[in-house]
Amino acid sequence: MTGWRPVIVVASANGEVGMDAAWAILERGGSALDAVEAGVREVEDNAEDHTVGYGGYPNLLGEVELDASIMDGSTRAAGAVGALRGYRHAISVARAVMERLPHVLVVGDGAARLASELGLAREELLTAKARDTWRNGLDRSPSDAGGDGSLVERVQSVIGDIFDPELARQASGTHPAPGGTVNFLALDREGHLASAVSTSGWAWKFPGRLGDSPLIGAGNYCDDRYGAAACTGWGELTTRACTARMVVAGLASGQTLPEACGAALADLKGLEPGEPGGRGYVNLVAIDRSGRHLAASTKEGTEYVWRSDGMDRAERSPRSLVVA
Ligand code: ASP
Repeated sequence: MTGWRPVIVVASANGEVGMDAAWAILERGGSALDAVEAGVREVEDNAEDHTVGYGGYPNLLGEVELDASIMDGSTRAAGAVGALRGYRHAISVARAVMERLPHVLVVGDGAARLASELGLAREELLTAKARDTWRNGLDRSPSDAGGDGSLVERVQSVIGDIFDPELARQASGTHPAPGGTVNFLALDREGHLASAVSTSGWAWKFPGRLGDSPLIGAGNYCDDRYGAAACTGWGELTTRACTARMVVAGLASGQTLPEACGAALADLKGLEPGEPGGRGYVNLVAIDRSGRHLAASTKEGTEYVWRSDGMDRAERSPRSLVVA
């Protein structure tokens, strides 16, 4: 490719800690794929972010299970891991699935085996702070009012057999808001796009639950010919609607970014049963092949971060499209 081309990186707001790392790669002419991985790794290292990587909130049993995916827009190759335990850089394991295995998605013990064979350091991902929040959340659960013992007691009494129709639902509805994920999208000087998503998923989830983040087409999609999109929020909705793929398919059919993102979010209407707990929202970040970008949400007041040529630092902005 000849001539100067603009570069851009866009992330969910919690990606702010990774923007410098991603930008440094793009600015020196590195690949979008390297940039999104580097950005996500910084977030996975951030113990204060309880929705991604080290320090993430655990599942119902107190185990941190990570999901991540990465996609190369130049080839539409993709890699993902789900329910990965014991390794903080889920995004790098996802990249290894893409580049070293003839597969797209590897989960559980298989994902941990791959991480180990890659030489990554095994560690406990549950920090003391996240453990306290997990236990407090269980203690404060709605079942306390029901006189059947606290949820933490119930969980402890049934470890090994935790299925109770109400248990996972009640536990995951506890304070604080159980969601969160990081998205990174980038366009490099060669005109290639890449997208990356990493999460500890829905806190207090049923063990083994996968959200949209490791599912190509649901929480992450990228195609150099048209654009890229990634989601945060209630993965059960975007999984059912293939939301990220729908945005890119909209761009492919000639829609503008606002049209494509608006249609994808509008398509979620009617899927939400209206549960309490604030999970009923979805956020999107998207870029097109020219580097135009848009961040959208089904609720007011959410932000994202972005940086393109001519900016001396990443900017935090409100998501400009709201499809309530
Ligand atoms: N989308 C993530 C999931 O469903 C959670 C979130 O972003 O809030 O696992």
